[in-house]
Amino acid sequence: MIRLYDTMARKKRAFEPADPRRITMYVCGPTVYGRAHIGNARPAVVFDTLARLIRHTFGEDSLVYARNVTDVDDKIIAAAEAEGVEPAVITERYERHYVDDMGALGVAPPDIAPHATAEIGPMIAMIERLVALRNAYEAEGHVLFHVPSDADYGALSRRDREAMLAGARVEVAPYKRDPADFVLWKPSSPDVIGWDSPWGRGRPGWHIECSAMIRAHLGETIDIHGGGLDLIFPHHENEIAQSRTAHGGAPLARYWVHNGFVDMGAEKMSKSIGNVVGVHDLLEAGHRGETLRLALLSAHYRQPLAWTEALAEQSKTILDRLYGKLKRFAFVEDGEISSNDCDSGVIEALNDDLNTPLALSRLVSITDPKSLTASGMLLGLFAHSERWPHFFLDMHSGEYDRVSRLVDERVEAKTRRDFATADRIRDELQDQGIVLEDGPDGTTWRRA
Ligand SMILES: [Zn+2]
Repeated sequence: MIRLYDTMARKKRAFEPADPRRITMYVCGPTVYGRAHIGNARPAVVFDTLARLIRHTFGEDSLVYARNVTDVDDKIIAAAEAEGVEPAVITERYERHYVDDMGALGVAPPDIAPHATAEIGPMIAMIERLVALRNAYEAEGHVLFHVPSDADYGALSRRDREAMLAGARVEVAPYKRDPADFVLWKPSSPDVIGWDSPWGRGRPGWHIECSAMIRAHLGETIDIHGGGLDLIFPHHENEIAQSRTAHGGAPLARYWVHNGFVDMGAEKMSKSIGNVVGVHDLLEAGHRGETLRLALLSAHYRQPLAWTEALAEQSKTILDRLYGKLKRFAFVEDGEISSNDCDSGVIEALNDDLNTPLALSRLVSITDPKSLTASGMLLGLFAHSERWPHFFLDMHSGEYDRVSRLVDERVEAKTRRDFATADRIRDELQDQGIVLEDGPDGTTWRRA
């Protein structure tokens, strides 16, 4: 039995999906105008891990996981103007980077990745409905959701009106009936991206995107809605108001799951503060994606996680040990491992509100090779075990350092086009049973 902390209920609840054969989960995805930092990677890794646990529990085909791509936004428009290109140039570039960076962290693509620009029709339809129901109104080319029209507004964040107005940093505009009202649609000037609508040429606000895409792809009420803590207010509060009022009071989600921030010691990691560590920077600095994933899972998802170089180093040491342990076993072929081999202690920890630090501490004490492999894979680890350099080497004999040095010498030799030396080093290692493999990511090696 999986238990999840539900932000709406403020407690852990047994996870009972409405239909265990079609469990629905939606997570607010990236706004694609820049590279992802390690804080952006946390929800991707956390909800990827939750998706793996749900599939393990209810079956491989039990879950429909949607994560949207926000590809129309004022920050995207600003980035496009700064480069003198169309917004699509920016969004395609950064979506590709996002998919690559998250892939490196072992994050599987979601089942559905709806794009805002492809779903304008459903958004306009939902806004029309909200206007017809008098929960929204048109004013000067804008359409706004009228917050006082929804008596239950604020239930998720439990904020009173004063705190809400302060937290939303509301834009005071003469066309608003109430300062808390938020934008569903706004006008676009002729030089800015826009679509025809009943209210003139314009573009959607951010919040309506998620409500409309959830309705279109998953239904009126979904099982799990996820995202970072910073989305609780105003974004998720606004999503709830739009969806519930448009759908005759049906709740938007049955469980609300939020992950904590990654911080740099004292401060939250944020593009606006400028203290960000890019996922690609960490990868280029030589960290493996698997190491970063393990580091992100080392704290409970609801707790803040302080990002330090020491954390990455510790995570690498843990993986070295795990691979060292796997190496001592006869090699287990992937096909021989099934999810039934997962360690019950690891599953028990994950079932308790995705307690990954406890799951990891149990993982390192597993002695059975099949169980270790299956349990690691449940956490999204060991996907590229063949590439872990230590996998087939004895780390304690100094062999790793020696092979490492020779591989580096060979790379240098190839760089100065000294192929005779490069070939001699390759042959020398081959005589010792070490096979080198040159690939796009550099040279890896394994025991023959
Ligand atoms: Zn959203």
